[in-house]
Amino acid sequence: MRVAEDFRKLYGAEPEGVWAAPGRVNLIGEYTDVNDGFVLPLALPHTAVAAVSRRTDGLLRVHSADTGEGVVRLDIRTLEPRTGTGWAAYPAGVVWALREAGHPVTGADVHLASTVPTGAGLSSSAALEVVTALALNDLYGFGLTAPRLALLGRRAENAFVGVPCGVMDQMASACCAEGHLLHLDTRDLTTRHVPFDLDAHGLRLLVVDTRVRHALGDGAYAERRAGCEAGARALGVRTLREVDHVQLPDVLGRLGDETVRSYVRHVVTDNHRVRRTVALLDAGDVRAVGPLLTEGHASLRDDLRVSCPELDLVVAAATGAGALGARMTGGGFGGSAVVLVEAADEDTVTGAVAEAFAAAGRTAPRVFRAVPSAGARRLV
Ligand code: ADP
Ligand code: MG
Repeated sequence: MRVAEDFRKLYGAEPEGVWAAPGRVNLIGEYTDVNDGFVLPLALPHTAVAAVSRRTDGLLRVHSADTGEGVVRLDIRTLEPRTGTGWAAYPAGVVWALREAGHPVTGADVHLASTVPTGAGLSSSAALEVVTALALNDLYGFGLTAPRLALLGRRAENAFVGVPCGVMDQMASACCAEGHLLHLDTRDLTTRHVPFDLDAHGLRLLVVDTRVRHALGDGAYAERRAGCEAGARALGVRTLREVDHVQLPDVLGRLGDETVRSYVRHVVTDNHRVRRTVALLDAGDVRAVGPLLTEGHASLRDDLRVSCPELDLVVAAATGAGALGARMTGGGFGGSAVVLVEAADEDTVTGAVAEAFAAAGRTAPRVFRAVPSAGARRLV
């Protein structure tokens, strides 16, 4: 295995093991995870693969095949949050979070390589965190469950790297199952694997990576979170998760601030769309999910206002060419969209999206099939 060979060349010894953790794409339920709500991601076949060995001298050495940087050496006893060690902050943050939680990592050598596209909203960062957490958990025998590892990965990203993400990404990477979506309740991290056999239904789910990332994304994410929290406060609930969609007309009438009102409308309706999607899938009516995706996109575009012209273009071009439904996925302001299509229409729809981008003078997006794949696992 390539990663193990490269580990040997770098560190002069065999790795103790090799682990993999996937990127993810979220079918529906966006910005719901920061409101204790529901999400429905699937793991991608793209993974971060890490060869890892323990050390006993407090040294953490990390290397990525994908950065062109050399080995980063860190003393784990002096790791400090937000001190900026570049990409190495992700694995280092996991070591820090494990130690903070009382799990005595005494050092490690890590070499990793990832096929998850970075910065495309497909959670390459969570894949790094989860693969590191799983490897150390196995090697050190901490006995932590997959959801616990996901929480530690999220803590690494929030507190150590300094990125305010919800828990969906790490949970998807840690807990997804091949051929299934992960119906995740982000309030208590309970999960159900929902069968999602696209082939059996003659369908495809496409990921369209717009290859753009607008700079305003970071501040906007925090602003949306704050707006949702303000909405919950105004309504006297702990989080917007507690608002049922049947209460929506009444609830909206009680909110004076137009911006907060539209954020609340998005979160409440999107939670409901997740439930409706799961009900349709359980009933075997996969095609009927399409319109919910497109409805979810309109809500993200018009109510939460986190889309961008490129994502809107994907959705318009795909649905205009006969896709069953499409929506932006992830935090927005660029990144990727998902498109549900009849297998027979895959080429037509892909071609229409490419043409629309060319006509608008934009860089061609990257399109690939989302095949629901396994969550994090040990390979060797
Ligand atoms: P996303 O998670 O949507 O891909 P993020 O901005 O959250 O985007 O995470 C991307 C960051 O994760 C990169 O800038 C880099 O620091 C780190 N990263 C991801 N994959 C790798 C890799 N293979 N090698 C080194 N760093 C990586
Ligand atoms: Mg990320």
